[in-house]
Amino acid sequence: MNMNDFSPIYWSAPYQKEVLAKVIGINKHEVKVDKALFYPSGGGQLSDLGLIVYQQQDIKVIGIEKREDGNWLQIDSVGDSGLEEGMEVLLQLDWDRRYSFMKSHSSQHLISHVLKRLFDIETLKANFDDEKIDIEVSRNLSEAEISEVLQESNQLINEGAEVISLIVDKDEYKNKYRDVARGKVSNENTVRLIQLGEGEGYDLTCCGGVHVKNLSEIKGIFLDTFKGNSLKFFIDKHGIDSVNRQRILMINLEEITAKKGEKLVEMLKNKLNEGKILQEGNLSLLKMVFSEIAYRSQEINGNKIVFFNLPEIDRQALQSAARELEKGFLIVVLGRNDILYFISTNGELSAKKINDIIIEKTGSKGGGNKGFAQVNVKNIENPLSLVKEVLTMFN
Ligand SMILES: [Zn+2]
Repeated sequence: MNMNDFSPIYWSAPYQKEVLAKVIGINKHEVKVDKALFYPSGGGQLSDLGLIVYQQQDIKVIGIEKREDGNWLQIDSVGDSGLEEGMEVLLQLDWDRRYSFMKSHSSQHLISHVLKRLFDIETLKANFDDEKIDIEVSRNLSEAEISEVLQESNQLINEGAEVISLIVDKDEYKNKYRDVARGKVSNENTVRLIQLGEGEGYDLTCCGGVHVKNLSEIKGIFLDTFKGNSLKFFIDKHGIDSVNRQRILMINLEEITAKKGEKLVEMLKNKLNEGKILQEGNLSLLKMVFSEIAYRSQEINGNKIVFFNLPEIDRQALQSAARELEKGFLIVVLGRNDILYFISTNGELSAKKINDIIIEKTGSKGGGNKGFAQVNVKNIENPLSLVKEVLTMFN
């Protein structure tokens, strides 16, 4: 018995783009036909889309619903189409979409094979889109490992290898293939396997998806991202375009920094570190200044007030340093980006109250609470003298 006789067109002839078929079922928004040209989705691969062509009409197939009684082609509305059971129609594949899925799916088998062979890593999950592949694997990979996987996979694409579809019954599968196949074991009565390479081949796995004839059609696999055990790749044109786009971004970065490659990474690390050290330095200085507020304070209406003009200091630094402030003071700081801060350690004098008066007088934006408040004073000519004026209202 030749099992291929029972296989759907998308298995036996994946490059066939159209076929005449008979309508054998019809509902409001769906049609069933007697030929399996469209792949119905499964195993990480999305369904095919395409057209039902009937009397010069192109009826769009917008999805495929898999049900007990077979696969139904989803269309906008049967009502307007004039379709009826028994009619002969032409099925046409959205070939660009199909072919990109074929290439993605075969690429995934190849990457999973290389992962297994080089590092004994299993593929747990895989999804394909238009020349894109997402793979979840059994452990995290290092940069060196991922780069080895890419090198080896692209080498195999370069060499080319046939992608062979085998359809066997349960017994043949058990006797011949089950123990040598990579990945999950099948319990189906009819088992479909995909083999990479001629003769014995080098990778065999149960798969119901649609594949290219030869790995050379993939042209290349390119890394998109990898994080933990999740790997993402682009292939073919998508991959080449993406790599070139990234390269242009890098050239911009290289021009700005006048550094390349590893040196660029090193430089950015150092710069970020310097920034952190500067911030920490600012904070220590601020704490030092705050520890001497008693000597710097002036009295306005009996309240002890200290003014600072610190254009480098931001809210975060102020709030950290404010924790160690002496009780009984109001500290007024003109900080970074023209933000005026009020910090009160005097229970009688609310930072929010003073801040609210400034907001009311000037229409500027701000807010806060009893101990800490801030207002934007960008549009105020002499904010510190305004504050002094407001403070004379308090006693
Ligand atoms: Zn597969």
